[in-house]
Amino acid sequence: MMTTTEQIPDAEVTPDATVPFNLALSEEQKEIRDWAHGFAADVIRPAGEEWDEREETPWPVIQEAAKIGLYGFEGTAQFFADPTGLLLPIVNEELFWGDAGIGMAIFGTTLAVASIFGQGTNEQIGEWIPRCFGSVDDPKVASFCVSEPDAGSDVSALRTRAKFDEKTNEWVLNGQKAWATNGGIADVHVIVASVDTELRSRGQAAFLVPFETKGISQGVKVKKHGIRASHTAEVLLDDVRIPAENVLGGKEKLDERLARAREGTKNKSQAAMATFEASRPTVGAQAVGIARAAYEYALEYSKEREQFGRKIIENQSIAFMLADMKMEIDCARLLVWRASWMGRTGQDFNNAEGSMSKLKAGEVAVWTTERAIQILGGNGYAREYPVERWHRDAKIYTIFEGTSEIQRLVISRAISGMHLS
Ligand SMILES: Cc1cc2nc3c(=O)[nH]c(=O)nc-3n(C[C@H](O)[C@H](O)[C@H](O)COP(=O)(O)OP(=O)(O)OC[C@H]3O[C@@H](n4cnc5c(N)ncnc54)[C@H](O)[C@@H]3O)c2cc1C
Repeated sequence: MMTTTEQIPDAEVTPDATVPFNLALSEEQKEIRDWAHGFAADVIRPAGEEWDEREETPWPVIQEAAKIGLYGFEGTAQFFADPTGLLLPIVNEELFWGDAGIGMAIFGTTLAVASIFGQGTNEQIGEWIPRCFGSVDDPKVASFCVSEPDAGSDVSALRTRAKFDEKTNEWVLNGQKAWATNGGIADVHVIVASVDTELRSRGQAAFLVPFETKGISQGVKVKKHGIRASHTAEVLLDDVRIPAENVLGGKEKLDERLARAREGTKNKSQAAMATFEASRPTVGAQAVGIARAAYEYALEYSKEREQFGRKIIENQSIAFMLADMKMEIDCARLLVWRASWMGRTGQDFNNAEGSMSKLKAGEVAVWTTERAIQILGGNGYAREYPVERWHRDAKIYTIFEGTSEIQRLVISRAISGMHLS
């Protein structure tokens, strides 16, 4: 019997309690899901192997996505606007079901967009978000740069500095960013930098840097284990000068926030963490997409492949593995949908539900794709079959946007109310 109401979101006390809990998707949601699935099946999946081998950004596929409105300001705004919060994870699951490397090439921009949308002024949203996507004829991508060589899990340790030059009314950025998705190929780089190092993460802010700015350049491009169609690189900042108004949220707000931090008043959120909190369920949905692809493939294979005169699914060991895969995927999706719904309806993640969804989905993706390889036997290990690629792709989901250990730390802190480390 449930003795407290802490475990369930209390809809009555939330700002938007009019959206009921309902697992039946609306007609519009189903239509958009099927449309995204069609693009994933017809365009993304067939291109997955080629772009994984090439290890390059699949610009022609991004352009195809732009042509049909899947990649762009309006499409993304529509996914974000769904009042249930489910449309964004639904579309992500479908695209990443097609291929995660290409999915990330298409959706990598969204992290930068989410930071602008979440922290920017109305003017910044209107000017910079369309710029992140470019146009149908000339699509662009954006990059959200937090991580550094010595600041991965520990975001408070950023060394990139932003100093304000009163004389020219400009910010001057110096530092080195690591692991940036779309770093160095993006039109817009959102750079999280420290304005006041003593305040640690509370002294950080996010800055809008167009790539044509003098002093910003791409460093080493990373050769990766998976999601190889998605570009990952260092971003170098050498006396990069940008106008005062390019700080997300505006300079006045930043000054107020810094003043509060110096007084010791608690701020609602820090620049990087605010973006990650909101994006974790969507990232979880991507992992669910990969897991589902592997499960479906393994299920079909097991119904066709015969050994010892019978289909391999007729062995309980294989059938039970598939049953567990299906159950774990559904479980991960439900956590993703819950967190997405909570985020969209303005509820606090009191038990780190966003982190829970990303943690579960990432681990399910790795676990499921590994089992899919097992079900395919030698073929699972061969490049002619897609499941080894999906397994490589899945692994990133226990690392980026907070490793599994960091998600557990966030959840532990939330449920205990203690500052565990
Ligand atoms: C393909 C790819 C794309 C990426 N895209 C981006 C991007 O677009 N923007 C961006 O800013 N970053 C990006 N990242 C960076 C990513 O977010 C970091 O790699 C991640 O946060 C982990 O940091 P790290 O690699 O420095 O590992 P570390 O922080 O060095 O962690 C190493 C190990 O130690 C563990 N660990 C660390 N601290 C603790 C602790 N307190 N308790 C328990 N265990 C701990 C970790 O869980 C991990 O297992 C990307 C990374 C990759 C690989």
